[in-house]
Amino acid sequence: MKINTNFAVICICLLGFFSFNLYAVDHDKHNVAAELQTDTANIYQTLLMDDTDDLMENHPADDIYNRIWTSDKLNPYQTSIDDLKDSIQIDLSSYTAPLAKFERITSHFGTRRFRFHYGVDLRLQVGDTIYASFSGKVRIIDYERRGYGRYVVLRHDNGLETVYAHLSRVLVSHDQIVCSGSPIAIGGNTGRSTGPHLHYEIRYLGNAINPVKLIDFASGTPLEEDYLMTKEISFSHQKELKALAAALFYKVKKGDSLSVIARRYGTTVGAICRLNNISPKRIIRIGQTLRVR
Ligand SMILES: [Zn+2]
Repeated sequence: MKINTNFAVICICLLGFFSFNLYAVDHDKHNVAAELQTDTANIYQTLLMDDTDDLMENHPADDIYNRIWTSDKLNPYQTSIDDLKDSIQIDLSSYTAPLAKFERITSHFGTRRFRFHYGVDLRLQVGDTIYASFSGKVRIIDYERRGYGRYVVLRHDNGLETVYAHLSRVLVSHDQIVCSGSPIAIGGNTGRSTGPHLHYEIRYLGNAINPVKLIDFASGTPLEEDYLMTKEISFSHQKELKALAAALFYKVKKGDSLSVIARRYGTTVGAICRLNNISPKRIIRIGQTLRVR
């Protein structure tokens, strides 16, 4: 009987010892679980904050522009015309003309002698208000002394970007959300400009489109409310761009004539005249630059 009592005491002690250990292990488990829970909560909170940030940082047409939003460059997208989809539907229904009163286009889109003109020039009076063409957000406000002068770039909800250049004053701030028809600037004559005008560009993924293919400037309305932008028609100027990229220029020297230069570059006088928009009878000057290819 005594042995049995001793046995029972030993058993109780052993039981106590093991259950304490079990409690300890269990307790640690609880601590680990609690820590995990805190960590998960923290991670979740971080994710939630990131999500909230993302929501606040949403920019127009983010899906098309692969979430690239920078004011460093006019075209940071590195998407050539070749890489575009064959056709893209663009909603132009909410278009507002950039100028309340259209006078005339003073310079068209296309190749100039030495460079490409990526927009149209709309005549204006210094002080005229410039309006946003569609709803969107201000991506760039900058000043280029030898180029655009003071200019604004907007990214629109319909996937297009518009450029407004040679401004005298900007009325919006960077990242500001604008509606179609919001006043964004005052027209001027800043940068490389020979008279008051608005240089107006329409771009898609950085690639300029001739604005007159989308907009009837005389009536201030889009040609079609649902514009089908196609690589073939909307970007038909791609050949000109490639030709200009491969262009070769020559500075006229003493003793040169058009025929001498044409022979030297394996071309014809007619071709040089067409490229430079000059008459074959024109006398060339020493130091004058001619495009020969
Ligand atoms: Zn221009």
